[in-house]
Amino acid sequence: MPELLRDHTSFRIGGPAGRWVEATSEQQILDTVRSCDADGEPLLILSGGSNLLVSDEGFAGTVLKIATRGVRAEGSFCEFDADAVADGPLGGGPAACGGYTLTVAAGESWDDFVAHTVAQELVGVEALSGIPGLVGSTPIQNVGAYGQEVSQTIWNVRTFDRRDGAVRTFANADCGFGYRHSRFKAEPGRYVVLEVTFQLTQGTLSAPIRFGELARTLGIEGGGRAPLAQVRETVLALRRGKGMVADPTDHDTWSAGSFFTNPILDAAAAAALPDDAPRYPQPDGRVKSSAAWLIERAGFAKGFGDERAALSTKHTLALTNRGTATAADIVALARTVRDGVRQCFGVTLVPEPVFVGVSLD
Ligand SMILES: Cc1cc2nc3c(=O)[nH]c(=O)nc-3n(C[C@H](O)[C@H](O)[C@H](O)COP(=O)(O)OP(=O)(O)OC[C@H]3O[C@@H](n4cnc5c(N)ncnc54)[C@H](O)[C@@H]3O)c2cc1C
Repeated sequence: MPELLRDHTSFRIGGPAGRWVEATSEQQILDTVRSCDADGEPLLILSGGSNLLVSDEGFAGTVLKIATRGVRAEGSFCEFDADAVADGPLGGGPAACGGYTLTVAAGESWDDFVAHTVAQELVGVEALSGIPGLVGSTPIQNVGAYGQEVSQTIWNVRTFDRRDGAVRTFANADCGFGYRHSRFKAEPGRYVVLEVTFQLTQGTLSAPIRFGELARTLGIEGGGRAPLAQVRETVLALRRGKGMVADPTDHDTWSAGSFFTNPILDAAAAAALPDDAPRYPQPDGRVKSSAAWLIERAGFAKGFGDERAALSTKHTLALTNRGTATAADIVALARTVRDGVRQCFGVTLVPEPVFVGVSLD
């Protein structure tokens, strides 16, 4: 029986894998990738499957499931400087102190890793609690939530470069991190992430809380700090309320999380939005708006859709499988929403998940 990709994706959609390889060692990853590349065999790297929309025809090639494990502590503890975490590894803090680094195998569960850091009183990823998927995928779209992004704590990313056939390690500054972006996303398929090294500071209080909703729920001022475990629990509760923690019993979480990224607009496009549209000025002069706001104001309320594919009843930005959706159903819903927003506001929303065998065009 072929392995069905719907059993390995958070949408619970996707047909059979041509060949299925589960790699529990780095050598297995390298051997599989090298032999596929030498034979011209199509290769799909699969981690947690929480950012993938795979066609019902499946993938006619090798699906390499990343299943490596291990966390290595390196470096030494340094004097606590939580501001450095907010500034990022190149912001002066960790460069000034030795820092404490954890090198994590690509196949480790992201949320287990976050829980581990909180239990070990290590600061810097607590607001990223509850994001599904594995550690090796986090640098690819620079995973972020509640005011934190992994780029703020990643020290380096060790990869296999399929083009050059060599293992290459990228320091943070060379990862090309941006909003839901990185050099790994810019060249899809070129790099296989093997390990990610994080630099975290030691402490019992979180990094400064920059996200208004989280600060309000914690009962602190924006920029204040709260106990690490409290921040983790609060983020998990907020996420559960929005269907953003994977739960097999809740169709609102049969999704890829936010389906569209928040649009970053030039000044003219931002000025053309209604007066009350959210506008967050960016350092480069452009303006970020809110995809959820645009979708709602274009007339798509929570729950919009049909009995197979619909917006989450808890979060406008998540497209969900209500139990029997095909990839085509999700694509049709995504088109309807994208086209409706474009018609109303002239903004073309960009999808966040990776499409395999399907397209929005
Ligand atoms: C309920 C829910 C909530 C979510 N909330 C958030 C959120 O708050 N913030 C956020 O940023 N994202 C969020 N996401 C999206 C998703 O969880 C993240 O993008 C996550 O990092 C994807 O990890 P994964 O291991 O599941 O990757 P997969 O879905 O398995 O893979 C995603 C892409 O990365 C590639 N890839 C995977 N592993 C590797 C590797 N080791 N080397 C090279 N390429 C690789 C795959 O080929 C694919 O192209 C959410 C998703 C869900 C379902």
